[in-house]
Amino acid sequence: MSSIKENYLKVMEQIVKTAQKAGRDPGEIKLVAVSKTVEVARIKEAIEAGVSILGENYVQEAQKKIDEIGRTVSWHFIGHLQSNKAKYAVHLFDMIHSLDSIALAEELNRRAEKEGRTMNAMIEVNLSGEATKFGTEEARAFDIARRVLNLSHLSLVGLMTMAPYFDDPEMSRPYYIRLRELKEKMIKEGIPVKELSMGMSNDFEVAVEEGATYVRVGTAIFGERK
Ligand SMILES: *Cc1c(COP(=O)(O)O)cnc(C)c1O
Repeated sequence: MSSIKENYLKVMEQIVKTAQKAGRDPGEIKLVAVSKTVEVARIKEAIEAGVSILGENYVQEAQKKIDEIGRTVSWHFIGHLQSNKAKYAVHLFDMIHSLDSIALAEELNRRAEKEGRTMNAMIEVNLSGEATKFGTEEARAFDIARRVLNLSHLSLVGLMTMAPYFDDPEMSRPYYIRLRELKEKMIKEGIPVKELSMGMSNDFEVAVEEGATYVRVGTAIFGERK
């Protein structure tokens, strides 16, 4: 068995076990295999092993891979998106995890309308306040969410966050709790959000315990990036 297949199966097993232990339906949790910097042949191995959602951080890099690999799998954009790339993003991706401004929402909506489709988006929330992280602050997330609800070609499906990197995955837990609470607050205010995109290679089990519906896992599937 290839190491990618082995890694993938192990991650899936961990997701299922963790969900069951937490009393959750494992079927609620989708794995985004993060394939930035990973070459096409290795991505194909992952697809053969069962990966059905790929996460990419750079539009140009993704474009090349999507041209070669095609759309039998779903492609999600998880990197920082500049408004001037919105056009390409709408063309290439099924979901944007990193909506972080009203301006970007409006541009995505405009481009989606031109393509005759509805774009799915999650709002990226920066809960750590780290300057090196993208995403909007918590209070602004409400403004963005309300704006998206009024845009005809953009669909708000959830919230995304990145915890700071910790060696101890338990340290991520407060951030994932806060994202879940933010979702609950939004629902109380009449903003329907469903998905929580949180958890990476080092801490996806904690994220699953706290309600993640998408985990974004790169290194644990493909190995260390160069
Ligand atoms: C690279 C990346 C990941 C995956 O990180 P790993 O630690 O390799 O699992 C997840 N989410 C985002 C936004 C990323 O940029």
